[in-house]
Amino acid sequence: MIPLVELQNIKHVYVTDKEASLAVDNVSFTVAPGEFISLVGPSGCGKTTLLSMIAGLLQPAAGQVLLQGKPVSGPDRRVGYMLQQDYLFPWRTILENTMLGFELARTVKADSKARVIQLLEDMGLKGTENLYPSQLSGGMRQRVALVRTLATNPELLLLDEPFSALDYQTKLQLEDLIADTLHTHGKTSVLVTHDLAEAIAVSDRILVLDRNPGRIRSSFTVPEPIRQAQPFYAREQQGFNELFRDIWAELEASGVKE
Ligand code: ADP
Ligand code: MG
Repeated sequence: MIPLVELQNIKHVYVTDKEASLAVDNVSFTVAPGEFISLVGPSGCGKTTLLSMIAGLLQPAAGQVLLQGKPVSGPDRRVGYMLQQDYLFPWRTILENTMLGFELARTVKADSKARVIQLLEDMGLKGTENLYPSQLSGGMRQRVALVRTLATNPELLLLDEPFSALDYQTKLQLEDLIADTLHTHGKTSVLVTHDLAEAIAVSDRILVLDRNPGRIRSSFTVPEPIRQAQPFYAREQQGFNELFRDIWAELEASGVKE
């Protein structure tokens, strides 16, 4: 089966007026259709850089990113990118915010609005269409951002620490909701998170990165019983704590606590 995403020997150098720094070096991995992978690693190890390259917003200095076997050369409709900040426009209503993807792609169709309204309902946001972002809680705004990302029906979801600003309870609820939604719709996902338990609870596979420069240090496959469980219950599955300890040891060695 041809991978949905393939990174081949990716290298990236950021150049500023003072210096050129090697941000990521020799990163290769593939993501199969329908697979959920997480990237974990210390701050500055290149997680956001890698997502931006998969999204076609940043060109690697060397190597290439393939989407369904073809090189990525710019933003692509098959890819939805949800940033850490919810970045909703304060002057737009919830409905107007969630319709943005269609407007940007100039593909507003008769059923676009119905689709968005259905997604809002699925995410427990029924009745918020005409409200403004400031009238919603942080957890609700993140769900709106997710609806906006899903609205145009991308095959691949790139999620950059989508839950990090939320309180613990809201975060657990959202993990379940997002995992359910993505599985139901058969999406492929790449999640960046600094929460290891979250990565184990939602992923099929976890890649641990090193920094200076960013490299893949190790890869862990999440055992089937943990994958099958909803994220909330995944934490209670046999093998969860062992896997947590193994990955934690890798993270410590990669400098997460420095
Ligand atoms: P992460 O998301 O894992 O925290 P990033 O991908 O944001 O890491 O950054 C990787 C490295 O590249 C860091 O050392 C960071 O300081 C550097 N970097 C990121 N963006 C820029 C930029 N626009 N200009 C210069 N350096 C950058
Ligand atoms: Mg980042």
